[in-house]
Amino acid sequence: MLLPLIITLIGPPGSGKGTQGRVIAQKYNLNYIVAGNIVRRLATLKTPLGEQVRTNLTKGIPQSDKIIIEAVKEEMSKMDINKGFLLDSFPLSLVQAEALNVILKNYNLPDNVVIYLDIRADTGANRISQRLICSKCSTVFFPADPGYKTKKCSKCGGDLITRSDDKPEVVRTRITEYKSRMLDLKNYYVQRKRLIIINGEPSVEEISKDIFNHIDEFREKTKPPDEKRGK
Ligand SMILES: [Zn+2]
Repeated sequence: MLLPLIITLIGPPGSGKGTQGRVIAQKYNLNYIVAGNIVRRLATLKTPLGEQVRTNLTKGIPQSDKIIIEAVKEEMSKMDINKGFLLDSFPLSLVQAEALNVILKNYNLPDNVVIYLDIRADTGANRISQRLICSKCSTVFFPADPGYKTKKCSKCGGDLITRSDDKPEVVRTRITEYKSRMLDLKNYYVQRKRLIIINGEPSVEEISKDIFNHIDEFREKTKPPDEKRGK
């Protein structure tokens, strides 16, 4: 019997996290939690917390660990725990990492394995400068997607726009900053033998294949002896 998979997916802007996240969640039938989406949803609430999150978002202040942790915890509590989880961009700090350990322990779930999608700053800048975002539903569009040419969202009909922080020079800076911000977290998981670094440069299909191989290998390695967990 295999344990539920708990996967954290991190990587700089343009690394293909969103695309790979959907593919991984589908392949392994996992609950899919995107930390950024929860935060954006919180910001729409007419509560003191919603107000706080909204202010942070508009001012570009990072949300506190406490807010993120509570939000993810709440989201997890609504899901079928035993399906396992794919956590997009959670944890992003050591405090969040420690909190996740506790949450998983409380649910009697195994530790998370972290997949870091790595790309060069230039690659990310090239990819991101091409993308458009729906002004209404925030769906991301690339040149091959329907609606890209007409700049109309194929889901909701909203206008597709380029975000100002998607300009190449801004993206390069964001990627460099992201990489240095993640050093401690990566070290944390290296020490615990739970970090998988994936080259995010090749095609979507090649990257997925590489990720699947690593996940399957990790699963095989961490398989519990049968007598420990029957079912
Ligand atoms: Zn839309």
